[in-house]
Amino acid sequence: MDHSRADGHRTDSPSRGGSAGVPADQATVRRSNLALVLRHVSAYGPCSRSAVAVATGLNKTTVTSLVSELQARGLVKETGPQHAGSVGRPSVALVLDGSRVGALGVEVNVDYIAAIATDLAGRVLIDRRIGFDAMGGGPERSLDELARMVERTVADLDRLGVTPAGITVAVPGLVDTTTGTVVVAPNLGWHGVTVAERLTHADIRGDIPIAVDNDANLAALAEYTSGVAAGTPDLVYLTGEVGVGGGIISGGRLLGGADGFAGELGHVVVDPSGEPCRCGRVGCWETKVGLAALVRMATPDRAYGTGRQLVRDPEERLAEIELRRANGDPRVDAAVAEVGRWLGVGAAMLVNLFNPRVIVLGGYFARLADRLIPAAEQELARLGMSGAVERCRFAASDLGFGAASRGAAGVVVERALSDPTTIAIRCPQPSG
Ligand SMILES: [Zn+2]
Repeated sequence: MDHSRADGHRTDSPSRGGSAGVPADQATVRRSNLALVLRHVSAYGPCSRSAVAVATGLNKTTVTSLVSELQARGLVKETGPQHAGSVGRPSVALVLDGSRVGALGVEVNVDYIAAIATDLAGRVLIDRRIGFDAMGGGPERSLDELARMVERTVADLDRLGVTPAGITVAVPGLVDTTTGTVVVAPNLGWHGVTVAERLTHADIRGDIPIAVDNDANLAALAEYTSGVAAGTPDLVYLTGEVGVGGGIISGGRLLGGADGFAGELGHVVVDPSGEPCRCGRVGCWETKVGLAALVRMATPDRAYGTGRQLVRDPEERLAEIELRRANGDPRVDAAVAEVGRWLGVGAAMLVNLFNPRVIVLGGYFARLADRLIPAAEQELARLGMSGAVERCRFAASDLGFGAASRGAAGVVVERALSDPTTIAIRCPQPSG
C-alpha cells in the first residue's frame, strides 16, 4: 500500500527514529512510531503485535506500549485470537477501531452546502446537502449557514458517540491553506474570506482542528483513494458544477504548484472572443462547459450562473433538463453535444500537458457522461497528441456531488493516521 500523501500539505512519512542530521526528540519519535503502527494495522489488520513488530522493525515491548496508547485513543482494538500457524498459542489480533473517531468534510458551493462524516475506516456515517444560494447570500450569511451545518453534523456525530478528529471545508476557489482563507472564489464572489476563523466561533468543541481547501483538489483526492479510477497515479479530475474545477494527480501526488493554486482548469481561456466569465476574463473553459452554460443553452433560464438565479439544487436542474429532453425539446441534445465538444477541446490540452491515464468526470458531467463522452472523445482524438490520446480514457465518477466533501473528510482521516496524537478522545485503558 502506498502511504505517500497526495494532498500536498505535508509529506513527512513515518520513521523509526530521527533521520541523520535532524535532531528528533523522544516525543517526535514516539509520534512517528504511533503513526507507523497505526498505518500498519489500518492497511494489514487483523494482525498480531508480533506481526506488527516484524513488519515495522520495532521491538515487541515498544509495539506493546504503542498499541496501548492507540487503544487508549480509540484507534485500535483487539479482535478474536488469530491462528498464525498450526503450532503455538494463537495471539490476539489488532484491527483499526476508529468507530468512535470521525472525520467531517463540508462543502460550500454556488447553490448548496454539503457535509459528509465518516469514521476512520472511511465508512460514511452522515451524508447531507441543502440547497443554498451562496452567491446571493454573500460571505457572511453563507458562513453562518456553513457554521449551522457544521454544528448540526457534529451534534449528530456526538449522538452516535463519534468525536470528529477534524473538519475540512471545501470551497470552489483559491485557498490559502495555511490560514484557511479563501483568496478568491469567482463563482461565489468571495475575496479574502476567513472561513476557518469564522468556524472557530461555531458552537462546537474548541479543540477540533479546522482546515480549508479547494473543492476540486479535495474531490480529486477522493477519486484517487476511493473513486472509479482509485489508485491510478496519473489522473485528472474534472467537475462540472456552475463552475468547472479540476485536480491533477501526477505520479500519485496532487499537483499543488507554488501556492497550492494549481488546477484551476475551468479558467483556462479557450475562446478569447467568447462569453464573459465570473472571474472577470472572457472565454474561460467553464463558460463553455459549466452547468450554467448547459442550463442557458438547454432551457429558457438565461440568468443562471449570473447571481440572479433561483436557488436550486443541481440535481433539480438536471432533472428539469432531462424532462425537457423527454418532452422532445431539441435544444437539450444540441446543448449536450456542444458541451461534449468543448469538453474534448479542453481535454486535449490536459492530455498534452499532463499525460493522464484517466480523466474522471464529476459533478453533472458524470450524470450525462454517456452522451458527453462520445462527443468529447471525438474532439480529443482530433486535437490531442497521438500516443497520449490513445492511452487516456474518460470515466464517469460515482461519487456524485459529494466528491469534494468526501475528499475533505478523507484529508482529516489521512491526518489522523499520520499523527495519532492529534486524536483527543480518551477511552478506558485496556486491562492487562
Ligand atoms: Zn474564468
